[in-house]
Amino acid sequence: MVRTVVALALALGLAHVASPARAEEPTLELKQAMTSVQPAAIVAPAPELQPQEQKAPSQVAPAQPKAPEPAKALACNHPGALGTSRTITVSADAFPRIGTMQYRQSLPLNDHEVVITFDDGPLPPYTDRVLDALDAECVKVTYFIVGQMARAYPDTLRRIYNDGHVIGTHSMHHPFSMDRMDAAQLTSEIDGGIAAVKAAIGDGRAVAPFFRVPGLARSRTLENFAASQSLAVWSADEVADDWFHGIKPAQIVERAMRRIEAKGHRGVLLLHDIHPATAMALPVLLQELKAKGYKIVQAVPAGYRPASVPERTPAEIAAARHQGWPRVVKASLKGHHARERKHIAATGDEDSFLAKLAAKKRHAVAAADSESGFFNR
Ligand SMILES: [Zn+2]
Repeated sequence: MVRTVVALALALGLAHVASPARAEEPTLELKQAMTSVQPAAIVAPAPELQPQEQKAPSQVAPAQPKAPEPAKALACNHPGALGTSRTITVSADAFPRIGTMQYRQSLPLNDHEVVITFDDGPLPPYTDRVLDALDAECVKVTYFIVGQMARAYPDTLRRIYNDGHVIGTHSMHHPFSMDRMDAAQLTSEIDGGIAAVKAAIGDGRAVAPFFRVPGLARSRTLENFAASQSLAVWSADEVADDWFHGIKPAQIVERAMRRIEAKGHRGVLLLHDIHPATAMALPVLLQELKAKGYKIVQAVPAGYRPASVPERTPAEIAAARHQGWPRVVKASLKGHHARERKHIAATGDEDSFLAKLAAKKRHAVAAADSESGFFNR
């Protein structure tokens, strides 16, 4: 289902790397001017970590309301944790398109600063394991949530938010064809996904105006539509091939580190919280980043966000499940994806399902020769 499409659409996205939209990218100066540094408001760094230097007042984005942050983000009680050193405030005005994999510019990160992002979830239990690993290191990240996944796992979605992470969106159904969609179809997928995530999280103000195109299958039409909705379109600077079938956690770590280092020791890293290998790799990756002196930066939206969203108790969740809620994903799927989901529902064979999906992605990405053609740009 949704996970099938990342690599194939990634291949589609590759065809658009030489984007004519580049000429419209904001200047570095503009982006820097729109970047605010608010370390104390967001995350208390680990004791040995000091916030990045404050920018001069003239460089701070003017008159942005100070957003209350989720309670759990206020302190890090894990001595020696990697921590989150600062935030970057991202708006579509300042950052309409983000990520050197497809665009000329990315976020204005300093040397040895990394922004971590996760796509395609939520999907228990892997999302939970990823959240545990992030919590252990007091690392705050940005999620790009698929609408139908949010519908299926609203409690996991709310936990993500209440753990202090930012919630962006990643379409309603994760189609790989968004580069060929007209405005009406884009509206349905993009706005539908946002509406589903807002409904699932219980407070629409908790959803950031951040959008990542499934499979990075961008188009000018899509980017114009996103701009009209004040949505920042996120690509990435690095991927770690964590959707490949059979990839080992150590390989994910090695590829992530190698590509971050090759891109100037910084960047927006794209991972997927729906894969077991990613969940296993993440604690090691965070250790590796810490050992090599990296700092984590969290991209946050401008404006107000609620401190938290309501979560249900385990008893309430169990009761709701007994009554047939949350809704089941397969009901809204079509074609072979629906059949695969049905197979999982019948057999519980999620591993086999994930393996099949990953195999499809691997073929697509191999065809795109991402290693040689993509990352050297
Ligand atoms: Zn995706």
